[in-house]
Amino acid sequence: MMSKAEGIVIRTTDYGETNKIVTLYTKEFGKIGLMARGAKKPKNQLSAVSQVLFYGLCLFRKGRGLGVLYQAEPLNSFRSIREDIEKMGHAALILELTDRLTDERRPSQAYYHLLRDTLLLMEKGTDPAVLSSMYALKMMPLAGIDPVLNRCIHCGNKKDHYLFSISEGGFLCMDCAKFDEYALVMSRAVQKLLPLIRTVPINRLGKVSLKAKTIGEIGSIIYAYYEQNAGIKLRSRRFIEQLSKFNQMND
Ligand SMILES: [Zn+2]
Repeated sequence: MMSKAEGIVIRTTDYGETNKIVTLYTKEFGKIGLMARGAKKPKNQLSAVSQVLFYGLCLFRKGRGLGVLYQAEPLNSFRSIREDIEKMGHAALILELTDRLTDERRPSQAYYHLLRDTLLLMEKGTDPAVLSSMYALKMMPLAGIDPVLNRCIHCGNKKDHYLFSISEGGFLCMDCAKFDEYALVMSRAVQKLLPLIRTVPINRLGKVSLKAKTIGEIGSIIYAYYEQNAGIKLRSRRFIEQLSKFNQMND
């Protein structure tokens, strides 16, 4: 029986001389793998859908393991993302994180919409670094590592100044600083932004613009948190770091 799904390609793998295996995150079925026969041939009708970041409607036959992709119709080409190396770097990070944190055939409308809306906002011009950090923070529950961001994780006190403790799992007040000698110092801006970023829906973000330093600080905390508490080190993160070093050199 044929199935139809709205989805975004999060990974592709070459298979044999002419085929590709396409991994999609879909609204209806969660993450699925589909065989795209002939997709490596340039003029094949499946060559467009077999690129990461393809977003559209797919027609396929579900199998016990891998399904077979028959047809796809794009809904947005994400052209402005594809044409910008910095946006593409952040989009790659978002897709890699989605792939690492989602399970096959476990659908979630909420997480699907989060992925789709994040990419649509990036396409429309919202700061890609802000979006990828927001996305990473909002995906933490899927990794089982949601940090405490509104009180001291140790004594529960609500103070106006905190450190960030990766090993304790969130904010740590100054009185409890002794419990983690490696706790990170946060600027006031970051202390206010972290809980906000987690609760505000991504499409209410508008054209938010943060200082590069602030968003850099937020990114360092989030990715160190993933690495130490979930063992997830993202390949795309290194690319973004190199790119930002390169940009600083050329400023
Ligand atoms: Zn405390």
